[in-house]
Amino acid sequence: MDKKTALVLGAGGFIGSHMVKRLRSEGYWVRGVDLKYPDFTMSAADEFIQDDLRDVGLVARALDVEGDTFDEIYQFAADMGGAGYIFTDEHSADIMHNSATINLNVLNEQVALNRLLGVNKTKIFYSSSACMYPEHNQLDPDNPDCREESAYPANPDSEYGWEKLFSERLYLAYHHNYNIPVRIARYHNIFGPEGTWEGGKEKAPAAICRKVANACDEDSIEVWGDGLQTRSFLYIDECIEATRRLMDSECTKPLNIGSEEMVTINQLVDIAAKVAGKKITKVYVDGPTGVRGRNSNNDLVREELMWDYFMTLEEGIKKTYEWIRWQVSKQIYAEVE
Ligand code: NAD
Repeated sequence: MDKKTALVLGAGGFIGSHMVKRLRSEGYWVRGVDLKYPDFTMSAADEFIQDDLRDVGLVARALDVEGDTFDEIYQFAADMGGAGYIFTDEHSADIMHNSATINLNVLNEQVALNRLLGVNKTKIFYSSSACMYPEHNQLDPDNPDCREESAYPANPDSEYGWEKLFSERLYLAYHHNYNIPVRIARYHNIFGPEGTWEGGKEKAPAAICRKVANACDEDSIEVWGDGLQTRSFLYIDECIEATRRLMDSECTKPLNIGSEEMVTINQLVDIAAKVAGKKITKVYVDGPTGVRGRNSNNDLVREELMWDYFMTLEEGIKKTYEWIRWQVSKQIYAEVE
């Protein structure tokens, strides 16, 4: 093929579907694979395979593009969700089994195809998570330590985080033993339009925007825990830009991709309420909250990629709130009809 080629695994998901759009806009020929099509738009992929990446035969077929290997693979497919899904421990076995199986299949089948064709050109991007950082460094909400080098001794607070850590090591092992060019990002809470916003797998920014959109002025909304847990959130366009830069770099070390604008969940609610122009009070209820504090540390990514976030959380929430408010109103109209 005369164009550059990319395979996006998890192309029906939030980050994957945005990445497909970006790659197409750069002129790539893109094949997407996912269990499902994107929830909110048509996929921009040239070809979309709706199938299960736990099936090793499917993975072997998906990696082959007209008798050649892809130039780039973006591996976003994972069994994942927000705190309500990954921190309750009700889905841990599925999360670990499903996501690890996909990663094992991708790497092993890529090595087999490389051997068959006598090539080794395919760069593979793996989307790890800040959830792999040790819980003991994230107890103080004001001073969490998420420098890349703080990952060991390992102690993630969820099985989701342990699987991410295992898979990071798996990609690095295939790099060391089979010379597979790998790129690994540790994403910190990515949010924006076209992300899951209801149903139990949504993350905090989307859940809060939905609750605020559903609330009347001077209503209250429920917040899990005491709302004093801290996080940072990165807008989707910035995540895609940083990921493309990482892919184009020579860096094989895992890098944080996140924002350093740390807020409490209470502040996140206040920002969503401000953007919505509503006065909202908070009712604190029991719920899974994850670690007490987390913030991206961008020292290394700034050095390696010359990249940093620039959008404020309020700007990102404004765009996300508008989109979620539109989804909520579409749902209300559908119920009325
Ligand atoms: P997402 O759930 O929207 O996308 C993941 C996609 O993988 C889904 O569309 C799902 O259908 C697909 N998938 C799952 N199992 C599959 C299977 N067996 N076969 C084929 N497809 C399968 O999640 P996302 O927010 O787009 O996240 C993408 C990646 O980034 C994930 O690996 C996630 O762990 C990682 N990550 C995301 C965030 C974030 O804040 N969104 C933070 C850290 C890490």
